[in-house]
Order: sequence, then structure tokens, then C-alpha cells
Amino acid sequence: MGTPTHCPYCALQCGMALHDENGTGTVRVTPREDVPANGGGLCQKGWTAAELLTVPDRLTAPLMRRRRDAPLEPCTWDEALDRITAGIGRLRALHGPDAVAVFGGGGLTNEKAYQLGKFARVALGTSQIDYNGRFCMSSAAAASGRAFGMDRGLPGPVTDLAASGAVLLAGGNPAETMPPFMRHLNEMRDDGGALIVVDPRRTATARQADLHLRPTPGTDIALANGLLHLALAEGLADEEYIAARTTGFDAVRTVVNAYWPERAERITGVPVPLMREAVRLLARARRAHVLTARGSEQHARGTDMVTGFINLALALGLPGREGSGYGCLTGQGNGQGGREHGQKADQLPGYRRIDDPAARAHVAGVWGVDPDDLPGPGRSAYELLSALGTAGGPKALLVFGSNPVVSAPAAADVEERLGALDLLVVADFVPSETARRADVVLPAAQWAEESGTMTNLEGRVLRRRRAVRPPDGVRTDLEILGALAERLKAPGEWSTDPEEVFGELRRAGAGGIADYSGITYDRIEAEGGVFWPCPSPDHPGTPRPYLDRFPTPDGRARFVPVEHTGAAEDVDADYPVYLTTGRVLAQYQSGAQTRRVRPLAEAAPGPFVELHPDLAARLGIEDGAAVRLESRRGAATVAARLTDAIRDDTVFIPFHWAGEGRANLLTNPALDPVSRMPEFKVCAVRLTPVHRG
Ligand code: SF4
Repeated sequence: MGTPTHCPYCALQCGMALHDENGTGTVRVTPREDVPANGGGLCQKGWTAAELLTVPDRLTAPLMRRRRDAPLEPCTWDEALDRITAGIGRLRALHGPDAVAVFGGGGLTNEKAYQLGKFARVALGTSQIDYNGRFCMSSAAAASGRAFGMDRGLPGPVTDLAASGAVLLAGGNPAETMPPFMRHLNEMRDDGGALIVVDPRRTATARQADLHLRPTPGTDIALANGLLHLALAEGLADEEYIAARTTGFDAVRTVVNAYWPERAERITGVPVPLMREAVRLLARARRAHVLTARGSEQHARGTDMVTGFINLALALGLPGREGSGYGCLTGQGNGQGGREHGQKADQLPGYRRIDDPAARAHVAGVWGVDPDDLPGPGRSAYELLSALGTAGGPKALLVFGSNPVVSAPAAADVEERLGALDLLVVADFVPSETARRADVVLPAAQWAEESGTMTNLEGRVLRRRRAVRPPDGVRTDLEILGALAERLKAPGEWSTDPEEVFGELRRAGAGGIADYSGITYDRIEAEGGVFWPCPSPDHPGTPRPYLDRFPTPDGRARFVPVEHTGAAEDVDADYPVYLTTGRVLAQYQSGAQTRRVRPLAEAAPGPFVELHPDLAARLGIEDGAAVRLESRRGAATVAARLTDAIRDDTVFIPFHWAGEGRANLLTNPALDPVSRMPEFKVCAVRLTPVHRG
């Protein structure tokens, strides 16, 4: 039957079994029927996942530069670890503990995310830790925390969607990013339910929708407020629910009064009849969901954009009603768990605030340190990257499970900052673009070579199981952190056993928002996953957390008024076209993994810009021709792909590639004031055809 586990990629965490054919090391993937998220389905990425185990440039020995300008060369583990600890010691002595920073990832297991946060605070004593999840769904997390007192992906099991009567999906394209998820929406539609998609592009998901609203990029707040205005005008709000289960509605009512339909249409470009139909479909369904994803979250007002959609869901009485609610389609494999256990700049395990004295005392007790010795909040991901090597900024960076050279906004500046460091250390299993710039590269075990837990987009804690032995010379991230902690003479225990680390994580998170106290490896095994919060061994877990009350001090969800202000950077005469970025089916995130999988590389071999034929004609750009795009941050050159699936004032580039087609050379690092999310989804560019001789 193979080893039952889950996919290495996205937050759906599809169940799969890995079969090591007769112990030959050739691994085959089969989908699992017993995992509700995918129910026997996989996408191209999942089907080909085993090829990750045999990528040709797999790292199997540490690499080090003997001199700053020397190439990376193989070295022993002792040499690599000595170099790292000597560098850390020197920089800390010169500049203090915040001279050393840590950058984590939303694909790390819960155990690694936990251990990385502890390593930063205890072994390094630094406040400077954040992770790439800040670039993913941090706006949804911030908006959910503000509205509901908690942030936990979907409001219930993913199978609830199939029983929904209507789903409004804002800024998500699961037909490409997580195709097996579509089975739940398709079941809903087969039963007469309606899918409403909000997206400037006619994506693969939008093509399957019953209704497609195509707003101008950056206008989601006006759209959400316009929808709520219509709901109120048509008497579709659930006044009884609003009175019984929420606070703050009057202020929202006042704000949305000014978003009358014609004004909302003028700002967003979405025709009033479409908005009206969307509201009616949602309000008249017995069960309904409002979902957001990166398209509505990766903005300099991303928290408010999500809040606009949450306000709509609350006014319709959806959150806390069985089979209904607001949810976020988390992106990275452990996007949910990765933000719960302390690798965020402002948080401790259990999703606790790092500036909360009670949380500090509790966690310090588990770690065996004095709470006063724990550092306070640090810089958020982009602020951290842009401070590297500056006066007062970190001088060393340790990167685990991330490739910011490709995934960070204003990527050329980030690359320059990495180059200004005294010490860059990267742990990875392939030489990613970030690893190639490192002073020391540590070869790490990957996905199927180690055990751990992941928390999927439902908030369900799952087990990833080791299916094959890692190659000789490779260590797990837990072993790397343990070895470094030992050399740094860090206090406390530094287990390298995932189950033991999970036990410590449960103690550290006990009593917090993300309480895993009652979850064990055995329970996950027996029950096929456990939903958090699960505060005790006899607790059944919490598939639908808001049915009785919201975890706010008064038990009510909070409306928050939000006003449209537009994108941080609007189009003008110099940069007259909107750029939006996103994903394609055959690639995943920075592409460090999927670009190395042959069938995926063949299916999606390189970057392109999607533009409308009318825009292309105006600019003299032909299908397939090279196009140079310029923004105020930089320039990229990619192939043109003409399609009427995009507005004629907007172009789209997927962000999975490095080199001259790197989308993030163009993107705007303007940050959301609450979530510190950069504005990946909209900036202003100009396009010119490239005539290559
Ligand atoms: Fe993997 Fe996501 Fe594809 Fe499922 S949808 S197979 S989890 S990449």
C-alpha cells in the first residue's frame, strides 16, 4: 500500500501514498481516496512529486566559500557549522544579538517552524525572525484575527463547500493552483449552487463560474462595499444575526452608504447588474461562503480588502453558521501551521503575541529561560530583507525553506541587500537562486525523507511520513538546528526527533489560540487528522470553530469599516498599464522545486506576459515576441501571450522564474500597515517590444 503521506506542495495537502518500488529507490505516487481534501485526485504537481527525490542537482554535501569572492566548494559538516558559529559569534560580539537574522518558510513542517522560532529567540537571542508566509496570506490572517479573534483558514471541513448554495471567491484561481479543490465547488454547482469569481482575469476558475466580476486591480474594497450596499438596499442583510452575534455594524453601514451602485461600478468597472446578481445569489442560498485568496490579499491595503469581504459575509449572517462562513484559501503547504508556532516576527508558539507578558512567561517556562531574556518583536519579512547589511540592520541571515531572491518584491534590491551581508547561510535541498548567493549552503532533507506534521487550509493537522532514506551527507532541518544550538551553547533541549519536538510544541502552545495540546501523532494517525483548537486529549478537535461564539472577549465578531483608497501605485503617463502577478498550474511558488521536475518544466518552461490583443496592437507587440516591462523598481523581459482573458488595461506575469523574466523585479514593496504584506498584486508598468537582432 506504500507509505501514506501528503503532497510536498500546496495548502490542500492532498493525500498520496509513496511506493518505493522493491526498495530500488524509484518512488511512485498514488493518490489517496481517504483524504477528504482531494478524495483520490491530484494535480500535475502531485502526480510528479516523486521526481523531486531524484533532481539532478540535489545537494548532498555542505558548500562553502573559502573567500568572499571564491566559488562555493564542498566542505565537511564540521567546517560548515564551525564557519557559521564563528561568524555568528563575531557579529554578535560586534553588533549585538540582532545582528543575526532568520528567514523561515510556510512550507516547513509545524515542528521545524516551531524549532526555528525557538532557535532564533533562545539560541541566537535575536528578535530578527520572519518568514515568507508574510508574502502569502498574512493579510487574511490579520483581517480574520481582527474580525473573529482567530485566524484559521476555512471555516469548516473543505467538504462543507460541496453542500454550499453559493460561494463567492475573491482573488483565487484554484483550478490552476490546487485543481483537486475544484471537486468541492463542482459538486456544489452540480447540486444547483452558484460559483461567483472576483478576478481581473478570466482564469481557469472564472471560466467555470456562474458569475465573473472583473474589477480593476486594487479596487476590491470598493467592490466589497458596493456589494454590501446593495445587500442593505435590497433588505438582504441578516439583521437578527447582526444584532445577536456582531459588534460595530453601524459604522460599516455608514461607510457603505457612500458606495451606491453607480459609484462602485465607476471605481471597480464591474457592472451594477453583475454586483446585484452576486449579492442575491449569496444572500438567498441557505448556506454560503465568502472566500479570499492572494488576489485580494497581496495588497498594501490587503487587510482592509479582506475585511471588506468579511463585512459582507457578516452582514449576510454567514460566519458561525454551520456549513457557511468566511475563509481564506491558504497557499503554501503549511501556510496555516507555519504561522502558528512562532516563526513570525511578532508571535510566539500557540499564535500568541510576543509582547504579551503572560505568553512570554508561559513559553519561557517551556523553553527553560527567563522571560526577560526573550527578545521582543522584530522586523516583518520585507522590512527585514531590506535592512540586511545596513547600519543597524542584521549582518548575517540564516534562510530555511525559502527563496527570497525570486519571491520577494523589488527583488533586485533584495538581492543587493543579501550581497551586503557578512554571512548568508541557506539550508535547502537544491541550489536555489538564494542558495547560490550564500557563503554557506547546508544540504537539507526534503519532504518524503523526514517526518512531521502539516496543518492544511482547513486547520486540520496531518502527518507527513518518511517514505525514503535521505541521501548520505544530508541532514534534516531539526538536526541542523540542533547542531547549531549545541555549538552556540544554547540552553534547553534541542531534540531532533519530530515527535518529541511536536510534544514540546504542544506544551509551548497550550492555552494559546492555536492550541494543539490534545493532538498526538497517534491521534492524527487514528483519526486521519485533527482540527485545532484541540486543548485536551479527550477533546474532539474543532472542525467549525465559531458555531457558539467567536473567540473575542465578548464572543461577538467585529465589523470594521474600510474605505477604498486605490492601489499604492496607480497608472500614469509614464507607467500606463497595471501589472498583476500570480501562478500557473505546473509551477509552485518560487519554482525552486517545480522548475527541476521535468514534466512540469516542459509544461511551463518559462515566464510570459499575458496581455489583451487590443493593448498589444496599440503597443506593436506580437504574440510570442519578447516584451520588456519596466516599473519604478526594475525591468523584466518575457514572451508575450495574447489573450482576451485579461482586461486591456492590465497585464499578468507569473512569478515562478528567475533571470530576466523575474516578475518580482517589477513589483511594489509598499506594505500593508497591519499585516506588512507587500503589494504584489498591482503596480504600474510600461511595455515595449524587444527587437532582438
Ligand atoms: Fe499537491 Fe496542491 Fe496539487 Fe494537491 S493541489 S497535488 S496538494 S500541489
